[in-house]
Amino acid sequence: MQTDVLIVGAGPVGLTLAIALGQHGVRATLVEQKAAPQFLPKMERCNARTMEIFRRMGLAEKVRAAGLDASVPMDVYIVLAMNEPPLLHLPYPSVAESREEIRQCHDGTMPLEPYQLVSQYTLEPLLKAEAESLPSITVRYACEFLSLEQDEAGVTATIRSAGGATEELRAAYLVGCDGGGSAVRRQLGIRLRGEGDILRLRQALYCCDRLFDMVPIGDGPGKGRHYHVADDKATFLIMQDSTRHWTLHATVERDADMAAQFEKTVAVPVDYDMLYVGEWKQNLLLADHYQRGRVLLAGDAVHLVIPTGGLGMNSGVGDAIDLAWKLAATLAGWAGPNLLASYEAERRQVGDRNVGASRYASLGRRKWRAQYRPDIRDDTPAGRAARESLVRVADVEQRKSNEMIGAELGYRYVASPIVWEEPGGPEHLFREYQPTTWPGARLPHVWLDDGTALHDRIGGGYTLLKLGGTEADASGLAKAFAELGAPFSVLTIDDERPREVYGHDLILTRPDLHVVWRGNRPPDDPRHVAAVVTGHRHWAE
Ligand SMILES: Cc1cc2nc3c(=O)[nH]c(=O)nc-3n(C[C@H](O)[C@H](O)[C@H](O)COP(=O)(O)OP(=O)(O)OC[C@H]3O[C@@H](n4cnc5c(N)ncnc54)[C@H](O)[C@@H]3O)c2cc1C
Repeated sequence: MQTDVLIVGAGPVGLTLAIALGQHGVRATLVEQKAAPQFLPKMERCNARTMEIFRRMGLAEKVRAAGLDASVPMDVYIVLAMNEPPLLHLPYPSVAESREEIRQCHDGTMPLEPYQLVSQYTLEPLLKAEAESLPSITVRYACEFLSLEQDEAGVTATIRSAGGATEELRAAYLVGCDGGGSAVRRQLGIRLRGEGDILRLRQALYCCDRLFDMVPIGDGPGKGRHYHVADDKATFLIMQDSTRHWTLHATVERDADMAAQFEKTVAVPVDYDMLYVGEWKQNLLLADHYQRGRVLLAGDAVHLVIPTGGLGMNSGVGDAIDLAWKLAATLAGWAGPNLLASYEAERRQVGDRNVGASRYASLGRRKWRAQYRPDIRDDTPAGRAARESLVRVADVEQRKSNEMIGAELGYRYVASPIVWEEPGGPEHLFREYQPTTWPGARLPHVWLDDGTALHDRIGGGYTLLKLGGTEADASGLAKAFAELGAPFSVLTIDDERPREVYGHDLILTRPDLHVVWRGNRPPDDPRHVAAVVTGHRHWAE
């Protein structure tokens, strides 16, 4: 085998997977068709869960240092133009303000890390450098995946490097992180289902040194993240992480129209350079499968959402982190067959829910935009009525895009083959997050009495949390995991708060901090529990 895992595609998902595998000591090669990361606008917001994941990977502070300053607010505005009073102002806290809220929150309802605004063109080079620094990871740009064949023992991929020469690479597993047009997915004959090509928009990237400092312009809106223009072109101005770069989306006819659209939106003369214009399509699509044999798929290769709600890359980072420890465990030899198979069972349901959340948010945006009338600017009863009606609808509907805490933190792996199932469980809500330790859920964040986070005390294997002063004997579980060769440790926490929030004396978590079992006394059959959560047996067997 030339490598253990061959990753196709160095977008944010492939790069995150490479780093996570490298941190597990897995040998992996990442191939990317582009010669280098590109300065093209795409995502700009890592959500709170992604930042928690980056914290566990030791990346959160680096990402914050490269991203938007912590003091800048995330306010969202609906405007007629940037120099006129906003029609609607939805205030959202800066990272610094969010951190303070989180510091004071002790009931498990908030994430350990706030979101971070960081443009994809800033994040990708950072992740690339990180992947390249890991001894077991090989990163090859200007290297295109062409085809694959798989057999019982591995996958052989044909790739073409910059000079045009083709070569074969043999790996135990291949992961397609090659985006919406995924050649890997097409080779496997896996279909995307749902709604494709819903709307086409143009997107442009501008460098405008003075705009951020000029805001507010006259009595226009204040500093913020998003400025939606109430027009019939779906115009939408977004501040990027440097505050010197801005993107604008609009349904205009021609690339050249994007200059006039920017000027119309800003509404006062400014010097700027239009660095890029391109067309993109809105899709709501989900792949039928995430795995076939030794080939797996992650990120946009298996789910395409409308960026409304910011669940694109963020869902893909969740895929990468779920897959990394399962591949590492399988290659290390202690995983049962259900462990890797659980990747599709767990992550496809999240992909499905996030496509639904994105649909819900984008329908909200469509609803308020449908209130636009050509006379919306007029100082007439009809003009005033149009403005009032748009604001009334937008005040409800626009929030759907910006308040998705349930989709971000509240996902729970239902009926996973590697979770000790408790039938029932709380409903998934896109807009609300209720902390829970129901098996399959992310362990809620709680502060310990000394001000440190419980999450930070949990290591990289399976961890039994002993809470509330329980005297329960953990030796049965310790022995059962040891027999399987799986990493296991016990963490005793006497502070009262974790016991209150988690609701049980004993919580068993896995490497990605999802709960796999809970109880108030040790399991009757610890061997059975250990065998299920490591993928050797089904809980109902
Ligand atoms: C306008 C816009 C705004 C967005 N905003 C957000 C946001 O705020 N938050 C969010 O979470 N998401 C957002 N998204 C979505 C986000 O950009 C994508 O979900 C994310 O880029 C997906 O990452 P990925 O790594 O799966 O795929 P990609 O980023 O598409 O990366 C795939 C990589 O694979 C490479 N590749 C493809 N084929 C091959 C091949 N044959 N051989 C080798 N390499 C190959 C490509 O060159 C590419 O580098 C936005 C998207 C758009 C368009």
